[in-house]
Amino acid sequence: ANDANAPAVAIRHLSFAYNEGHPVLHDLSLEIPQGAFVGIVGHTGSGKSTLLSLLLRFYPVRQGSVAIHGMPLDAIANERFRAEVGLVPQDPFLLAASARENIDMGRGLTQAQIETAARAAHAHDFIAALDQGYDTPLGEGGSRLSVGQKQLIAIARALAGAPRILLLDEATSHIDSQTEQIVQTALDELRGTVTVIAIAHRLSTIRDADRIIVLNHGRIAETGPHEQL
Ligand code: ATP
Ligand code: MG
Repeated sequence: ANDANAPAVAIRHLSFAYNEGHPVLHDLSLEIPQGAFVGIVGHTGSGKSTLLSLLLRFYPVRQGSVAIHGMPLDAIANERFRAEVGLVPQDPFLLAASARENIDMGRGLTQAQIETAARAAHAHDFIAALDQGYDTPLGEGGSRLSVGQKQLIAIARALAGAPRILLLDEATSHIDSQTEQIVQTALDELRGTVTVIAIAHRLSTIRDADRIIVLNHGRIAETGPHEQL
């Protein structure tokens, strides 16, 4: 069933180990309502990226279950999965191409679609201020941009696909505080429209999250709004 009221993500008794190694996630259970903004924090190696990888179906779920909008992960067709789940990777890959092409990614989107996504990602203002606007070449790997601006382009790129769920792995490298504030605002504004699950390396990024999940050695140590942590 794909219930309109089903949680965006329902994780039940999920355990996971890479290869024959030690378990990395232990009996996780978690429900994320549609439209919520959830932050995931935890020290290095606590399993944050592993959890994201499982949500992205990079590895099969063997113990426990994960469902998206009421559908078990492995029951969702690839095309539908790609349409429903958008990813903002930690270290986004930028083409040596224009801002427009970097958001479009060969999908043949209209300028209106590209600009709407860029505005939602709060990337429009800095793109518009570049010497050739959306047609400005961003350089090899986006070398003309700061780390934070690359992340904003990656958010625009993901939002341009109109996902119902946005997964974000925050950049670990330095983001200037002004851009970080912009990322924060962009994520906050998606609340209610897009379910946002953000791995954060800075608590400030997810300050406005509805819930913050703290992972500790593959277990949920705490969950609650920021004020309670
Ligand atoms: P960080 O904050 O450093 O990004 P993380 O919370 O994202 O850490 P994970 O990358 O999920 O942590 O790693 C959890 C555990 O799984 C670690 O012990 C790590 O060494 C191990 N691990 C991660 N990826 C793999 C892999 N591809 N193969 C084997 N072990 C892995
Ligand atoms: Mg990680």
